[in-house]
Amino acid sequence: MFVSCFLATVSAIIYLMKKKRIVIGNWKMSPPTLAEAKILFRKVSIVAAKLQNVDTVICPPFVFLSQFMGTRAKLGAQDVFWQNGERFTGEISAEMLFSLGVSYCLAGHSERRALGETDEQVSKKVQVATQAGLSVVLCVGERERDANGVYFEFLKNQIRNSFLGVKPRFLSQVIIAYEPVWAIGKSFRDAMSPTDIGETAIFIRKVLSDIYGQGAVANVPILYGGSVETENVSDVLRFGGVAGALVGHKSLVAEEFTKILKIANTL
Ligand code: PEP
Repeated sequence: MFVSCFLATVSAIIYLMKKKRIVIGNWKMSPPTLAEAKILFRKVSIVAAKLQNVDTVICPPFVFLSQFMGTRAKLGAQDVFWQNGERFTGEISAEMLFSLGVSYCLAGHSERRALGETDEQVSKKVQVATQAGLSVVLCVGERERDANGVYFEFLKNQIRNSFLGVKPRFLSQVIIAYEPVWAIGKSFRDAMSPTDIGETAIFIRKVLSDIYGQGAVANVPILYGGSVETENVSDVLRFGGVAGALVGHKSLVAEEFTKILKIANTL
């Protein structure tokens, strides 16, 4: 246990030394109109295009995605259907997203899991999306923390189940977003501490290493999400041992999100 945790820490440090930061904005079901979405997107993408050390990914609602193609910002979908095929009214396939020019999609966001999405469906999403050529941001996170550390067991099972059937060759298209559900949608004061984020990121890499082997997972980025704001982004990225952040509510405020991007760019 000690040796593999040590190796996981070393590989995380090496990873962080050589890569750009990744900051993803998850707009959720906002803004309410296309006109507002266009204004927000324009303000963010102008700043994002100038930053050398950050990869910015914007995840607008599905209906707005096609409006933003051809711009320099990277685009992500907030979800993807877990099967290929035709008879799935209302769903959006990985192939459709890829053909549109979308490069990323989220899978297993806690708000989708709360609507009934299972680990099995999440693992199928990871499979269909990576096979279609997308990079997947696989969201994991415990609903609550208990004094006895039972949440570690929960996380381990969630990760193992969400990766079931995912072949090692697709790992280069996977990003993990660690999002403790209890920290989402609040204020930076309620976010997880950088120390706890760092500890959990090492744990997540260790769980992945146990499945795929140390070498195979050394380059899988782990992000933190859960009330990242301008006030805590620097500490999260500097001391949390993560490659970047998944930002929800603050990605909807152009002035705040661009500030987050600029801070990330300096680290
Ligand atoms: C999210 O929903 O992925 C998220 C991180 O939200 P927030 O930043 O609002 O906590």
